[in-house]
Amino acid sequence: MKNFADFGLEPRVLQAITELGFEEATPIQSQSIPIALTGKDMIGQAQTGTGKTAAFGLPLIHKIAKEEERIVALIMTPTRELAIQVAEEIGKLSRFKGIRSLAIYGGQDIGRQIRALKKKPQIIIGTPGRLLDHINRKTIRLDDVQTVVLDEADEMLDMGFMEDIQSILKLVPEERQTLLFSATMPANIQKLASQFLKDPEHVSVIPKHVSAPLIDQAYIEVPERQKFEALSRLLDMESPELAIVFGRTKRRVDELAEALQKRGYSADGLHGDLSQHQRDTVMRKFRDGSIDVLVATDVAARGLDVSGVTHVVNFDLPQDPESYVHRIGRTGRAGKEGTAWSFVTPREMDHLYFIERVTRHRIPRKPLPTIAEAIEGKQRIIAERVLEIIEQGELTEYKGLAIQLLEQYDSVQLLAAAMKILTGDKKEGSDIHLTPEDPIRAKRRKPDIRSGRKPSGGYGGRSNSGGGYRREGGSGSGGNRGGYSKGGSSSYGNRDGGGYNRDRNNSGDRKPRSYSGGERRPNRGGDE
Ligand code: ADP
Ligand code: MG
Repeated sequence: MKNFADFGLEPRVLQAITELGFEEATPIQSQSIPIALTGKDMIGQAQTGTGKTAAFGLPLIHKIAKEEERIVALIMTPTRELAIQVAEEIGKLSRFKGIRSLAIYGGQDIGRQIRALKKKPQIIIGTPGRLLDHINRKTIRLDDVQTVVLDEADEMLDMGFMEDIQSILKLVPEERQTLLFSATMPANIQKLASQFLKDPEHVSVIPKHVSAPLIDQAYIEVPERQKFEALSRLLDMESPELAIVFGRTKRRVDELAEALQKRGYSADGLHGDLSQHQRDTVMRKFRDGSIDVLVATDVAARGLDVSGVTHVVNFDLPQDPESYVHRIGRTGRAGKEGTAWSFVTPREMDHLYFIERVTRHRIPRKPLPTIAEAIEGKQRIIAERVLEIIEQGELTEYKGLAIQLLEQYDSVQLLAAAMKILTGDKKEGSDIHLTPEDPIRAKRRKPDIRSGRKPSGGYGGRSNSGGGYRREGGSGSGGNRGGYSKGGSSSYGNRDGGGYNRDRNNSGDRKPRSYSGGERRPNRGGDE
């Protein structure tokens, strides 16, 4: 980390930084600002919330002369919200210097933008579609642009802006500086960079959780028919205090609860077909700990407020990323740690990637626990219980027999046998049969109705190949801004509209960070 004063930025810029309360530069800022100031091209890889706007904004503001009346800097962002956000930040950073910047995005009256352009802004922050629109109307000229910034470049390509970006970049003088920022570096970004950047410097910042989410997430790839065995092993290995297991359908919940009971777990099911009385009974048992595994559907678990849930298992993946966030949010509450596992069948891997992208959280893979691990876990729990009982004392009435047995048998053998009984040798399940559920299909983006533009790039697309939702895109981190971590759940309150889907289809207008279902505007066709 560096002090902002070390960069040699002019006093009026430093003043703005002080005013904003930035104490020291973030890692991406420390690395990018010196490079950007030299005028070299640069590729910066960093997650959301790492301070990229100031990383490219400060050098720009430092360099631009107040008297300049031409558009000398162009910043492209994927969405209108990001354009506004970046413009606001640039506005604050340039306050004391008096640089003029303007956001240009779809959905806003173009006449108003044309009037604002008459004030001769030096920096334009825009979404590609609307920018092209202005370029075609000759209300924006790029002939004098000296610096181009591609912000959230991977998102722009995911949204199908590759061609628009290419067209725009071809209109900017070749003698310029180009800065590309992206959270991920898939092949299409590299292609874009090699096409338009000259000998760029690479800067990357290792993702770091701003605030470590308390929910430890993992997925286990497991075929449908092995899910139950996987669940048993996990439960044995971890011995959750309270676990919620999510199933996709009511039938699933019933079958699973019954199967778990057969295997000796204290489990019960909750779904919409139960009477209020039945539901209350199940919930009471779960709350007071007389059952420790609750099997539920999304609907049944909605609004469920139970504290102390240590584990959430997605026995079946949810359809919506919002549901995923809701489900895992049942644990890790009130500052406690929680664990969330998801079973993913091989055919559902794309859907998992999709969830990762929308929630902006990379879910690590975890191997299926082995039988040995499950047994070891069970034994560890039993051993802990035995030791607890020793501590509690009150063993007098058992001691007579214990002494007798110890006179005749080996102590290790005796204890091992007792533990075997305690571990409860559950029958390995030939008697268990669950009706298989069909795999969830990854949702695909619909073609962009606005301009007939088809989604391109790695994301979405129209293929069935499964190449769609890229792995790299998951991109961990984001801290709270990803919206999934605790505290963020309120932004998922409104589930009605399949928010992410709509937002994504609407290239100019996606709400970028929280992927919230709430505060959605009418669809205005984005960047028309
Ligand atoms: P990114 O573009 O990487 O997602 P932003 O540029 O939007 O991140 O910055 C995220 C937040 O962090 C903003 O509210 C910004 O004002 C703040 N921020 C940026 N740089 C610093 C800094 N050096 N110190 C403190 N806060 C900062
Ligand atoms: Mg940003």
